[in-house]
Amino acid sequence: MVNCSRCGNREGLSLVTVLYEEGANAGRALVYCEACKADMMAWIGEAIPLEKVSPAVFLDLYRTGKTASDPFTAVELVFGRKDADLVRQAQALLNTNSGA
Ligand SMILES: [Zn+2]
Repeated sequence: MVNCSRCGNREGLSLVTVLYEEGANAGRALVYCEACKADMMAWIGEAIPLEKVSPAVFLDLYRTGKTASDPFTAVELVFGRKDADLVRQAQALLNTNSGA
């Protein structure tokens, strides 16, 4: 079950990136409800309604450097289940971005 990373709400959820620092391009991948999204507006980079978040959309955040969140944690937060294959793909993109 997916719920808001901040308050536990299960309605109106979006995948958001909460910027690591002000003006940063990248942020931590979390799931927020409408109220938390509004509260944290200044710190939110990307906000994608959860029903539109496919594995491809999720991986694009890593591909474009919008997040560097630990993929294992992020996949569970966003999809509400473990997915080793998706984690592996996100990890590979992270490694590519960091030049490793
Ligand atoms: Zn919330």
